[in-house]
Amino acid sequence: MNSARSIASTFVFLFLGFFGATSCATDRTIRAQATDYHKELEPAVLTDAELRGYLQQIGDRVVASAKELHAQKFGPKSAFKDDSSWMFSNEQFHLVNSATLNAFTTGGDHAYIYSQLMKECNNEDELAAVVAHEFGHVYARHVHKGTDRQYGVLGGALLLGAAGYAAGGEEHGQEYAAYGAGLGMIAGNFLAMGFTRDDEAEADQLGFEFHARAGWDPERFGGFFQKLIDKGLDTTPEKMSDHPSLSSRVAVAKQRAAALPATAKAWRKPPIADAQRFAALKARAEAVGKSMPNDQSLARAKLLLAAVPSCLVPQESQEQMEARATLEAAQAAEEGREAPKK
Ligand SMILES: [Zn+2]
Repeated sequence: MNSARSIASTFVFLFLGFFGATSCATDRTIRAQATDYHKELEPAVLTDAELRGYLQQIGDRVVASAKELHAQKFGPKSAFKDDSSWMFSNEQFHLVNSATLNAFTTGGDHAYIYSQLMKECNNEDELAAVVAHEFGHVYARHVHKGTDRQYGVLGGALLLGAAGYAAGGEEHGQEYAAYGAGLGMIAGNFLAMGFTRDDEAEADQLGFEFHARAGWDPERFGGFFQKLIDKGLDTTPEKMSDHPSLSSRVAVAKQRAAALPATAKAWRKPPIADAQRFAALKARAEAVGKSMPNDQSLARAKLLLAAVPSCLVPQESQEQMEARATLEAAQAAEEGREAPKK
């Protein structure tokens, strides 16, 4: 059997399975992709019960606040296009062991905060702001949008000629084929996609409301972005980047905090961890991270984590580009090894 054709047929089958005749990403398909992606990343997730429990408590508080706002019809149309109840009952927040400064979500039941990010947060309010931002992406179904954007054209091309795709004739064909075999198309799709500037701005807007209504200090919502600016990471002009500039995100967060009604004071609640416990949890994350096994799957999970697009830093980092290149090279080598067996 012609192996190129069989691979191509598999891809067509997957596409049809994922997107059906409408080529529109549904909650079911995005959640399934996110679950697949999670299997790749799980080895890098910190399993420590106290840390897991803590991050999940923050996430649950964000989600409960989002659920209330959802009942009040808050947010964009995309938040209401389907039954959203799964978002408010299944979302898992993972602390991943990584020296990279990032956080992201695959749009389904999983959101990821990197331990390095937690380490850089001055307090829980800042950490909760990032968690709320990530849930904003889930709430507004941004991964669905990105997937539709990415596959709108490609899906049609596939129906016309799958072989062209397998040969890399389509614009992104090679890219997907390279990631496809080992990591799942999903990972490749997500890595290649990222979020748009509008998505980021919307996730900030939604996240701000979730965060404030959940009781954290709204004045501190932009604190983490300010920290990134202080570290010299706001160097790409906004119009050159897929992200809003960090300084504009800080400014907008300040405006939002100032525009809150007087009644917003009643929303405030103590943080889950006070300053002392927060410092202890950060130290714990660092200590636990050091003792994690550095096996092969963890190395790949780490590479994946280093390669995902950033929700925070406007420009693509050297580390991200290198991680992506390494992944592609590893994938190619893997395919080369497997090829003679067929
Ligand atoms: Zn984001």
